[in-house]
Amino acid sequence: MSDSGLGFSVKRFIIFIVGSAVAILVFEGMGEVGGNMIKGQVSKTTSKYHPERNVEDRIKPAFVLEDKVAIANAADTTDALVADEWNAEGSCEQVIEGNDMLQFNLKEMKVSAGCASVTVTLKHTGVMAVEVMGHNWVLSTDADFMPVATAAAGAGLANNYVPVDDNRVLAATSIIGGGEETSVTFSIESLQAGDAYTFFCSFPGHYAIMKGSFKVIA
Ligand code: ZN
Repeated sequence: MSDSGLGFSVKRFIIFIVGSAVAILVFEGMGEVGGNMIKGQVSKTTSKYHPERNVEDRIKPAFVLEDKVAIANAADTTDALVADEWNAEGSCEQVIEGNDMLQFNLKEMKVSAGCASVTVTLKHTGVMAVEVMGHNWVLSTDADFMPVATAAAGAGLANNYVPVDDNRVLAATSIIGGGEETSVTFSIESLQAGDAYTFFCSFPGHYAIMKGSFKVIA
């Protein structure tokens, strides 16, 4: 072998090429082996605790929106059933709930013209104080509803936000806060079956949302 004088020889060059090729093959081989080892470990680990579950089960979310909707619907159904029971058409005993979200649970109440008197019980299912989220139940004709609701603000909390000595007010409970309950019993002698009456909460601003239709049925 001749030496070029520049440190280059064919023999060294061949050794370098062969050496590089072997190194690459070994590296690739190790990578393959290592990869398979990791794969094996992953599959062993993820199936170890729940060997009975297949891949679909394992990737399935624990919580599905569908189930939540079903729960919400079930709750609605229950509320409706309870409301029906309380608010049986024509019943002389009516129960209505108000909450912290400015909502009555009823949009309509129907009492029988045959009721000697009607008792409306209001339950505040929220937790907020009367000064902040007070509710009452006030009854007037549809025509008087807005004027009474407007006058109510001036009556103040001390008067339960009900105009004093105002014959447009057909019935009214006291005003209550979260967790409290109140009721009013009144005669419906002056009310006419078929006439339009409105019940509402007269706490300032609440009447816009907290209102419903009160009917006397024959
Ligand atoms: Zn209210």
